Amino acid sequence: GIPSMPAPVLAPRRPTRRLQVGSVGVGSSDPISVQSMTTTLTSDINATLQQIAELATAGCDIVRVACPSQDDADALPAIAAKSPIPVIADIHFQPRYVFAAIEAGCAAVRVNPGNIKKFDDRVKDIARAAKDHGTPIRIGVNAGSLDARLLAKHGRATPEALVESALWEASLFAEHDFHDLKISVKHNDPVVMVRAYELLAEACDYPLHLGVTEAGPAFQGTVKSAVAFGALLRQGIGDTVRVSLSAPPVEEVKVATQILQSLNLRPRKLDIVSCPSCGRAQVDVYKLAEEVTAGLEGMEVPLRVAVMGCVVNGPGEAREADLGVASGNGKGQIFVKGEVIRTVPESKIVETLIEEALRLADTFAPT
Ligand code: SF4
Repeated sequence: GIPSMPAPVLAPRRPTRRLQVGSVGVGSSDPISVQSMTTTLTSDINATLQQIAELATAGCDIVRVACPSQDDADALPAIAAKSPIPVIADIHFQPRYVFAAIEAGCAAVRVNPGNIKKFDDRVKDIARAAKDHGTPIRIGVNAGSLDARLLAKHGRATPEALVESALWEASLFAEHDFHDLKISVKHNDPVVMVRAYELLAEACDYPLHLGVTEAGPAFQGTVKSAVAFGALLRQGIGDTVRVSLSAPPVEEVKVATQILQSLNLRPRKLDIVSCPSCGRAQVDVYKLAEEVTAGLEGMEVPLRVAVMGCVVNGPGEAREADLGVASGNGKGQIFVKGEVIRTVPESKIVETLIEEALRLADTFAPT
């Protein structure tokens, strides 16, 4: 195979405690994991498992399922047993579902302190059940469901209010010597969210789950999540991530994966270096880049492919990439590992690049 150098990262991870969420380790000694949440009715076991399989294929490491009813709770044992990735039960109001999820073999349970006032006197029992089963708990504070007491005290869901809520809830578990916790403090405003996580990171050593909640439709949610996660990951803050989009969850996984790959926090796979095109372009760069991306989708090796519109930066980028095309006069010079191997007409650029990419992919050692 082709030897690879360790990729540089922007910051060392903030040191944290470590949790085991099913087969996935969570904390600073483990890779940052990608989470998403199913949109099926959890009680529909087959549909939920089908969606989980799709998410796992897209690169999701841990999946969360909502549990708002007894039918959903009843489905948890089968889902937890058959899912290819660890399943976290997401529980808001009902403590009894927390016990059901732990008994069902879920890899973790997420609780929302704003919605579980009634939990306070049950924390001891929850902590004991979770400890007996080795089940970690995520304290998931959300601006939209902040504890009324803290809302009154802070006036609105400020970073300080979110953090106070999370730390208070963590302290209730800590009183019972339960520390298998990770925490999230989500807000739809990336500025508030980033500040909240910064404060939380200073105040505790629990692993943190990052998310901009209700981030919006795909485009806005992608940008909000990318800038907010980037600002935190640049400080080493963040142990698991979830991109929340008003879009199918597979899209969330793709965006989260791309954010982590962009910062070398997970190995890059296919990396398309394509120019924005300009008045000098002599081929249709958008079309070429799109067709090459589509043709190589799902490629599992770290291949950098340059798709460049003219000879200004084209040969330079194409030479630096594993594979590339520098276009000119309706033709493309195809580069492999820095050498021009052939010149083809524009109509043959895409198929030639794909052919060469597959050939190169075969030279990578299986991982
Ligand atoms: Fe313009 Fe050429 Fe640069 Fe593409 S490579 S942006 S066509 S100058």
